[in-house]
Amino acid sequence: MLEIRNLRLHYGQHLALDRVGVTVGRGETVVILGANGAGKSSLLKAAAGLVAPDPGADIRFAGADVAGRPAHLILEAGIALVPEGRGVFGDLTVEENLALGAYARRARAHGGASRDLVYALFPKLADRRKQFVNTMSGGEQQMVAIGRALMSKPELLMLDEPSLGLAPVVVGELFAALGRVRESGLALLVVEQNVKMSLSVADRGYLMEAGRIVGENTATALMDDDAVKRAFLGATV
Ligand code: ATP
Repeated sequence: MLEIRNLRLHYGQHLALDRVGVTVGRGETVVILGANGAGKSSLLKAAAGLVAPDPGADIRFAGADVAGRPAHLILEAGIALVPEGRGVFGDLTVEENLALGAYARRARAHGGASRDLVYALFPKLADRRKQFVNTMSGGEQQMVAIGRALMSKPELLMLDEPSLGLAPVVVGELFAALGRVRESGLALLVVEQNVKMSLSVADRGYLMEAGRIVGENTATALMDDDAVKRAFLGATV
């Protein structure tokens, strides 16, 4: 469904992404693993239309060429991004934040149904619908951010470090919720520091290093991979 090939991206002279190739199939959950500065966020931003790739990049979504297209058109095509740091509006309530996510043309006709789905996936948000988001915990705010992205009725949801800064018990809740999102049939592309947790909900994963994809495998195989264990899981193999 998402096919990225030959994605290069410069910030001035700095080459942040070098001939990156990543695919996500319909309903598939894919995780991107890599150290800080490897280029993971840049990859998601390029796919979401928030940064312009170098000419020659091939980014297709459901067969349409979306490379270099503006962010609002990519959202209309069915790709939603939950950015690092969430980007929720703290002085608005949960339901106001969700309503803001439904402005995409593809979403307007489905506002009510999408809200019901979000509240079914995140029952806590239903209980707190009138609460101002800046009075909520980090984990709850992350669920608002995911809920808002779901309101645009995406077919692919991209998440940049969703567990960053959350307490371990909250991370568990968050991944359980992502598991439910996955079961609803959406494709997920997730950048995560929490390698164990993210591989446990993923089908496949890619390893990124210095702007390049240096490995790719099923989530199960990556969990047993010595290089992954050494780099990310604190093992001494
Ligand atoms: P992190 O986990 O720390 O966010 P990352 O893997 O997501 O890292 P990116 O944020 O994509 O990495 O950054 C890739 C490289 O591009 C880094 O060297 C970073 O310093 C650089 N970079 C990112 N954004 C910009 C920018 N707006 N201008 C210049 N350089 C940038």
